[in-house]
Amino acid sequence: MSASRDASFSIGVDLGGTNLRVAAFDSEWKRLSYMALPTRVAAGPEAVAADMAGAVRSLLGEHAPKREFRGVGVGSPGPLELPAGKFHQPPNLPGFDGFELRAALESALQRPVVVECDGRAAALAEWKLGAGRLVPGDSMCMLTLGTGVGGGIVLDGKLWRGMTGMAGENGHIALVPDGLPCGCGGRGCLEQYASATAIQRAAKKLAASGGAPAIARLQAEEGEIAAKSLAALARSGDLQARDLFAELGGFLGMGLTALINTLNLPLYVIGGGLVSAWDLFAPSMFESLRRLCYVYRLSQPADPARPAPRATNLVPAVLGSEAGLLGAAMLPCQND
Ligand SMILES: [Zn+2]
Repeated sequence: MSASRDASFSIGVDLGGTNLRVAAFDSEWKRLSYMALPTRVAAGPEAVAADMAGAVRSLLGEHAPKREFRGVGVGSPGPLELPAGKFHQPPNLPGFDGFELRAALESALQRPVVVECDGRAAALAEWKLGAGRLVPGDSMCMLTLGTGVGGGIVLDGKLWRGMTGMAGENGHIALVPDGLPCGCGGRGCLEQYASATAIQRAAKKLAASGGAPAIARLQAEEGEIAAKSLAALARSGDLQARDLFAELGGFLGMGLTALINTLNLPLYVIGGGLVSAWDLFAPSMFESLRRLCYVYRLSQPADPARPAPRATNLVPAVLGSEAGLLGAAMLPCQND
């Protein structure tokens, strides 16, 4: 590694439906500086791109005089057509349909920009610096459980983008015939049964049924029940709350069955905010896999909590909410 590369930096942008986070990282992926601002979705895509460019310019001004600049990467909600970063009716960014993010940013910054789907950026970071270190190998599949269910696939050391950049839309694996309608236009998608939104909706329904007094009390206190509060209630022993997480784990196992039977990879990682409830949904997820998944049964490790070589390992993510931002900053450095 050259001396100039030692003192280099790259910038990652994580575009969320609520917040826009921008950070500079050094060549060892240590965070140098950070900015967060609200995503002005209602002001339209041009305004949001201008905000992003403004934040990137400010970090460039801070670090470019002292370090070699390696590039800027953006993780964005999908679906996106790549490499243009053109939005296709993104459910969490209304009004962004057809907008070409990469061209807008490159014209504002006068520099090359790499745009990638946010789930895939998070997968890249987890593979390089997070769960991927527990099970060394060149391939991995990640599912992120948040408002929706996102994902990313690393195959033979590279992010798998698919023909037009839409690979890894794992949240829309169809699980339930004529099931709940999904933002994608389909029905019965994994996302409708294994996301934070899904468990909140199931809790609300249970509270309204009159058969779950503790969950109803939680709803009266909080209005919208946070997945975290529901997890705390489950850990305190409430059976109905425990059942909700067990049910989620069962659906997640079904979604993973499709992925594991198709991909036969050494590592699958579950990330996103809901992974903090791993202890609550993992037992039924593993049970569902052992029951349904042929390839998992043939290749499961002796102890699911201890990753093993040449086995199908399934572990929680370790980088938390940092993964998306870090992965975005890694995007321009992938071929270095
Ligand atoms: Zn869907």
